[in-house]
Amino acid sequence: MNDTNTPEDVAPSDFIRDVVQGDIAAGRTETVVTRFPPEPNGYLHIGHAKSICLNFGIAADFGGRCHLRFDDTNPAKEEQEYIDAIKEDVHWLGFDWGDNLYFASDYFEQLYGWAEHLISNGLAYVDDLSAEEIREYRGTLTEPGKDSPYRGRSAEESLDLFARMRAGEFAEGSHVLRAKIDMASGNINLRDPVLYRIVHASHPRTGDAWHIYPTYDFAHGQSDAIEGVTHSVCTLEFEDHRPLYDWLVENLPTPSQPRQYEFSRLNLTYTVLSKRRLIQFVTEGHVNGWDDPRMPTISGLRRRGIPAAAIRDFAGRIGVTKSDAVIEVALLEHCVRELLNKSAQRRMAVLKPLKVVIENYPEGDSEELEAVNNPEDADAGKRMVPFSRELYIERDDFMEDPPKKFFRLAPGREVRLRYAYFLTCQEAIKDESGEIVELRCTYDPETKGGNAPDGRKVKATLHWVSAAHAVSAEARLYDHLFARPDPGAENDVLEDINPASLDILSGCMLEPSLTDFPAGETVQFERLGYFCPDPDGTKDAPVFNRTLGLRDAWAKIQKKGG
Ligand code: ATP
Ligand code: MG
Repeated sequence: MNDTNTPEDVAPSDFIRDVVQGDIAAGRTETVVTRFPPEPNGYLHIGHAKSICLNFGIAADFGGRCHLRFDDTNPAKEEQEYIDAIKEDVHWLGFDWGDNLYFASDYFEQLYGWAEHLISNGLAYVDDLSAEEIREYRGTLTEPGKDSPYRGRSAEESLDLFARMRAGEFAEGSHVLRAKIDMASGNINLRDPVLYRIVHASHPRTGDAWHIYPTYDFAHGQSDAIEGVTHSVCTLEFEDHRPLYDWLVENLPTPSQPRQYEFSRLNLTYTVLSKRRLIQFVTEGHVNGWDDPRMPTISGLRRRGIPAAAIRDFAGRIGVTKSDAVIEVALLEHCVRELLNKSAQRRMAVLKPLKVVIENYPEGDSEELEAVNNPEDADAGKRMVPFSRELYIERDDFMEDPPKKFFRLAPGREVRLRYAYFLTCQEAIKDESGEIVELRCTYDPETKGGNAPDGRKVKATLHWVSAAHAVSAEARLYDHLFARPDPGAENDVLEDINPASLDILSGCMLEPSLTDFPAGETVQFERLGYFCPDPDGTKDAPVFNRTLGLRDAWAKIQKKGG
C-alpha cells in the first residue's frame, strides 16, 4: 500500500490543543477524553475527516483516548449500513477507538431519567403546541418569544404526559418536552428548547422500545458527560448552543462536566459537503453510489485511490481555526500528489492506443527490458517489461504534420521509447476514411536502454506497451463533480453538476504487471497520472480509476497569492 505514514507524522498545534494543554497544566484535566460523534444518517466525507483527525489527534497527542460515539437519536433517518460504513472509514483513515465504541441510544434510559429530574425540579414541561405554533411563539432575533399556555403545567401532569408519550399513546407532533429556561433570552436556543419529540419509527438498535427520542441538544452533552469526555469539540454552528449545553450539565446530576469547543468546518472548492445533498446525489443517481470516486466521501476518495495518509496530511495543513474559509481542493490534490510521487510505483499504460510496427525488429521475437519501479524510491527496485515488434503508443504522441513546438513522433522523426530504444517513424498508414491506424517504424538496436552510443539526442521520450503482451483495460477519468468552484452559489447545486465529470475509455493497453495490483493501491501511469484498480475490474478485464493527473494546480494558486 502507499499508505506508509502513520497518524503521528504530523504534530500540529492549534487553539484547541492550547486549551487542552492549559487544562492539563492547571490540573483541570487528568486524562484527555475526546469523541467523534457521527449521526449514522449518511457516509462520512472529507469534512468529517477533519473532525476525526482533530479529535483522535488530540487524544493521541496528550495520551488520552477518543471515543467513537454514534449520535443515533433520529431513527427516521438512520441505518445500520451507515454505522458499518462509518466504522470502516474511521479505521481506514488510520484511527482506532479501541474499546470505546458507544451509542447515544445506550443512554436512552438515563436520559429519560434526567428528563424526569428536570420536570420534577420545574425545569421542563410537556407542551401541547404544534411545531408550527412553537415556531411562532419563539419570537425572532429582535423580538422576545412568548410563553406557551402549557408552560405553567404542574410537574405531576408533565410527568404523567411524558410517561404516556414514551408509551406511545400520542401521535407524532402532538406533544414535546421542553426545557423551561427563558422565552426572552437573547439566545434563541435558550427559549425553552425542545428536549424530546414523539417519533413512531423503528430504531436500528432499540427497535420499537421507544416512542420518544431526545433532540441533539439534550442527548449530546449528556452523552459526553456519561462518557467522561473532557473536551467536546464540534463545528461553529453549535457555538450558540453552548449556553444550553452548559445549562443542562449544570442542572443535571451528571457524573462529569464536559466543556464544548467549536472550530470552523471544512469547506472545499468544487465540492458539496452537505449530507442532505450527498444523499440526494446518490438516491437520484447523479453519481454511482456513496463510493463513487467523484464523491467527497471517505469511501469515494478511497476508491479513487487517494491514500489515507494524504488526507491526514491535508487535515494537518489546513489547521484548526474559528474563521470560516473555503479551502482550495487543489491543496488536497497537492497533498495526494506529493505523497504518491514518493510512494507510487511507476508503470506504463497507453490510454488511447496507436499501433506501431517496427519493421526491422525480427518477427516473432521479443525481449525483456529493465524498468525502474520508482525513481523517488531506490528500494522500490526494478522490473522487466516485455518488448516486441508490435507496440502501442499514445495516439496523442504522434502528429502527421506537427506544429513547431510538437517534439514527439512524426514522419521521419526519431524519439526514445522509455527503457527501450530509439524509434524512427517511416510511414503513417491510414484507413479509407483517412484516419491513421498504424505507424511503420524502424528502431536502432544500438540504442538499447535508451541512449545512442554516438551521443545523438532526441527531444521526446514516449511510453509504450508491447501489443502481444498488453492487457486490455477500461480507464475511468474523473474531473470535479461540479463545474464551478462554488457550486450552488447562483443556482441549485444540481444545475452546477459537471457534465464531463466522468470519461470512460475502453481498450486501454496496460503493461502486464499492472494486473498484480490490488484495488486501492495507486500507481503512476508514466506521463499520464495516478491510477488505481477499481473493484469493478477483474484480472482479465481490469478497470482503473484515474486518481489525479500529474499536473499540480496548487503551486500556481499559491503564486497568485491564493
Ligand atoms: P448533519 O446535518 O446530519 O448533522 P453533519 O455533517 O453535521 O450533518 P454529523 O454526523 O453530525 O454530520 O457530524 C459528525 C461530526 O463531524 C460533528 O462533530 C460535526 O461537527 C463534524 N463535521 C461535519 N461536517 C464537517 C465539516 N465540513 N468540517 C469539519 N467537521 C465536520
Ligand atoms: Mg451534525
